[in-house]
Amino acid sequence: MFTHYRTQSLILKKTDQGETDRIFTVFTKDFGKMDLLAKAERKTASKLKGALENFYLSEIEFIQGKAYKTLTDAILIDDFKNLRKDLKKLQIAHKISELFDNLIKGEEPDPQIWQLLTETFNTLNTHNLKPKIYSLIYYHFLWNFLSVLGYQPEFYQCSVCQGKITPESIFFSPQEGGLICARCTISVKSAKQIDENTVKIIRLMLKKDLPTLKKLKIEDENLKQLSLISNFYLSETLEQAG
Ligand SMILES: [Zn+2]
Repeated sequence: MFTHYRTQSLILKKTDQGETDRIFTVFTKDFGKMDLLAKAERKTASKLKGALENFYLSEIEFIQGKAYKTLTDAILIDDFKNLRKDLKKLQIAHKISELFDNLIKGEEPDPQIWQLLTETFNTLNTHNLKPKIYSLIYYHFLWNFLSVLGYQPEFYQCSVCQGKITPESIFFSPQEGGLICARCTISVKSAKQIDENTVKIIRLMLKKDLPTLKKLKIEDENLKQLSLISNFYLSETLEQAG
């Protein structure tokens, strides 16, 4: 007899397999990231249908086979209706799914990532959210996701000399892992200047203060720099992660 495992999961990706099967990449509460085979899922009569779709939160049941883990049951918990009605929110969900693809290799439960992921989807699913806040929710996810995975950036002192940062001239270097003081930039290549407001926003993010972030009035200029610095750090991390 096979052991049947049950857990909550957020579906990140689906890939067709053979004639009628599908592989679902999910992040689960109890087992971390997994690929699960759904046999004959693309047939209309499949009993798994209705609970398996990208960005659904579902309770799933599976067995461990020789080559695959096979889904035996799926019950929908939340289909995040407001999220899937909005193309911009969906784009963020896809970007988050890519981050899992690129940065999480093994199967390992992680309560912090589970919490961050479900909180992010619940927040994105909020009705009447201002579009500018969408990006803040994404970057909040990104910085905390990288931190949990061991790429916690230094945002309080100089990453090189551990000295104080003066608000008038702050620099950021992904290679050094965080902020750089004006003196140390001389010896650090590829450091970008970063303004104080962006530093404050990223600090708020790393404090996991989503409620304050949701109320934040952010200027376009800051949003641009936030995006620049975040992507700068992400690309360096992806390179390190190989
Ligand atoms: Zn320094």
